[in-house]
Amino acid sequence: AGARRPDPSLAARRAAAFGPAIDPLFYASPIEVSHAEGVWLHDTEGRALLDAYNNVPCVGHAHPRVTAAVARQSALVNTHTRYLHPNAIELAERLTATCPPELDTVMLVNSGSEANDLAWRMATMATGNRGGLCTTFAYHGITEAIAALSPEGWFDEPKPAHVETWDPFDAGAFSAAVARLDTPPAAAILDGIVTSDGIAELDPATVRGWVDATRAAGGLWIADEVQSGHGRTGEALWCFERFGVVPDFVTLGKPMGNGHPVAAVITRRAIVEALVGRATLFSTFGGNPVSAAAALAVLDVIEDERVLERVRRTGAALGEALRAVAPADVRGVGLAWGVDLPDARAVRDRMRELGVLVGTTGRDGNTLKIRPPLAFEETHVTQLAEALSRALG
Ligand code: PMP
Repeated sequence: AGARRPDPSLAARRAAAFGPAIDPLFYASPIEVSHAEGVWLHDTEGRALLDAYNNVPCVGHAHPRVTAAVARQSALVNTHTRYLHPNAIELAERLTATCPPELDTVMLVNSGSEANDLAWRMATMATGNRGGLCTTFAYHGITEAIAALSPEGWFDEPKPAHVETWDPFDAGAFSAAVARLDTPPAAAILDGIVTSDGIAELDPATVRGWVDATRAAGGLWIADEVQSGHGRTGEALWCFERFGVVPDFVTLGKPMGNGHPVAAVITRRAIVEALVGRATLFSTFGGNPVSAAAALAVLDVIEDERVLERVRRTGAALGEALRAVAPADVRGVGLAWGVDLPDARAVRDRMRELGVLVGTTGRDGNTLKIRPPLAFEETHVTQLAEALSRALG
């Protein structure tokens, strides 16, 4: 991959090919990516950028064990899921083994949106209810049913009639949202680190109260672990463990295949039994041998490289460094941090010029979003803090 100038026609061709509804590119001067490894994203100009944004390459970009597993399985067989193959079965067994015994059944799909859509569908069928609860600025996915539970994407559209939202930063907001529902809830859904709302370390007792109130109103609890799972918090593999709750659905995505599309719903057997004879649960690609191999390799690496320990260590250093550098509200847990800054987008763009990639989040885009691959080490924290300090100064 020899260094070259970025292709000046690519952005225009992208706009022409994908049309005006496609999400905008990141950064004032967009990056043309060439290759990556670990926490480094290389652009086509030959520059190594420190990636403090991407949670998909959870165990590090192009992790050799994951790429080898994908290559090996691709060369053997990849096909749909109506044949016996051990990979998907082993993956399901490995996932349930990480969960409380009630969560004993797994469905493999291809994206976080699809996992949440399936959980939502099962919740409506199992409860017979139609109402939904989500946080004020949540994002849970792109399907029609899940877009209704994703206020981040509502833009100027009115709130769907069956959905009420609660502010995760306001402990009393949940019961008020339940009371506002004009139809009983099928489910409440929560990203345990509230990424789109601006990132926070939620109080476990408060979350337990939300779960209890949901169930008291007849609804089920969906723990969306697409952002918060696979060790992101450092305290446990899954964020719901740190809350001390047993969800009715656990949905997994993004980091699950370290960049390979694979996702899952983990739920209780009785919920799935309610669907028998009423709905077919089939996904052509869901749990195919290659995707399952990727997901198994990610679980192996998390264990073998003691990723949770590393996240706890690096995460503590990151929180400390951010608080030392930024005169701001700094919130987070593990390797997910939000820093409130009035000019967060400009700071993000200045940091990109300094070779460090971060994002922005929150209702007004005023929160710097720092969510690196879990391969992040303390030397990277130092480099990030220096760049942030310069970008602020
Ligand atoms: N849930 C959460 C919390 C997410 O952040 C996202 C994606 N950003 C999704 C679900 C949807 O995942 P996907 O884009 O893979 O459909």
